[in-house]
Amino acid sequence: MSAKKATQCVHAGSDQAAQAVPGVTTPIYTSTSFRYPNEAGEVYYPRYYNIPTQQVAASKIAQLENGEAGLVLSSGMAAVVSTLFGLLRAGDHAVFHSGIYGGSRSFVDERFSRCAIEHALVYGTDVADFEAAIRDNTKVLFFESPTNPLLQVVDIAKVAEMARSRGVLTVMDNTFASPILQNPLDLGVDVVIHSGTKYLNGHSDVNCGAIVTSNELMQPIMDCAVSLGGTLDVRACYLLERGLKTLALRVERQSANAARFAAAMVANPRVRTIFYPGLSDHPGHEIAARQMSDFGGMVSLDLDADEATTVAMMSRLKLAQVAVSLGGVETLACRPKETSHAKISAEQRQREGITDSLMRVSIGIEDVDDVIADFEQALS
Ligand SMILES: *Cc1c(COP(=O)(O)O)cnc(C)c1O
Repeated sequence: MSAKKATQCVHAGSDQAAQAVPGVTTPIYTSTSFRYPNEAGEVYYPRYYNIPTQQVAASKIAQLENGEAGLVLSSGMAAVVSTLFGLLRAGDHAVFHSGIYGGSRSFVDERFSRCAIEHALVYGTDVADFEAAIRDNTKVLFFESPTNPLLQVVDIAKVAEMARSRGVLTVMDNTFASPILQNPLDLGVDVVIHSGTKYLNGHSDVNCGAIVTSNELMQPIMDCAVSLGGTLDVRACYLLERGLKTLALRVERQSANAARFAAAMVANPRVRTIFYPGLSDHPGHEIAARQMSDFGGMVSLDLDADEATTVAMMSRLKLAQVAVSLGGVETLACRPKETSHAKISAEQRQREGITDSLMRVSIGIEDVDDVIADFEQALS
């Protein structure tokens, strides 16, 4: 007795054996429904973050960060919000560095008071600056290094040690360095976050995020992440995992390119100040040299030009594209005034050193001679 058409539409050929083909890459398990009871005794569901395609990507990132437990999410912000709301509750206090990602900062500014969570913003990068902001009810200290867009460097081990001695958990957004150059958990940090949209995926085509921490701390974070629903679709997980396979190659090349680019820009008369931790006169150079294996692919330039001239020079770039975001294989340039710091008042931008002529460059994997030639013609 052969099945009718509607039944065939659903069942014909879609047998389990087809999934047992021994390919060398991870299958994309597109199902949102899984049979139970099953051998694993698990309730599989994408929003529970337990589909094998998701777990493979999460486990790769956890291992790259030397952590016990990893989670991949639908964006870096999903990682930030799930972590903070997972660890904090009404009545708690948290300390943030002013150089954190603009989206993280707006989240804290706009949402925390509504949830009766108090916070302080720290402007300096010294351990004493962070310690001065700690109160009796401080639960979390959140920072980045190097920061966006001025590439300030925080002494991770010192800050983590101080926070631990005060009973405060440290959360670090490691997006700019990537796990290839720096592993905060090894330096005493409790939770590491990534916007996987940047270096981890690396091809400017997937929006994703990641969290890595201990099994114990992952519990409350995971509970929150399940409720917030920032799950990563398995098709995106597959692309993220594929991107991760070349992460070390890409970041090594981007760092080498950035060092050559920075050296060329130091000699350029149109560049007033250059922000790159690989330069020996950068204020965070020695700390960066200690805690990073290389200095990364981000370079910021303050041009000796007014705003209109800066915009005109950027529009002359031919190879580098004027675009938001970072960490992809292609070289990108943007003006933080228009992008990451657009929501911040002119007064505040000035206080933080974000000038109208500041250009942030995310160096790609191209031949760096071509990148340097492009910026030299644009700035001439
Ligand atoms: C982009 C970015 C984020 C936010 O990530 P999304 O994937 O855009 O949500 C967080 N932190 C840093 C440092 C970033 O650069």
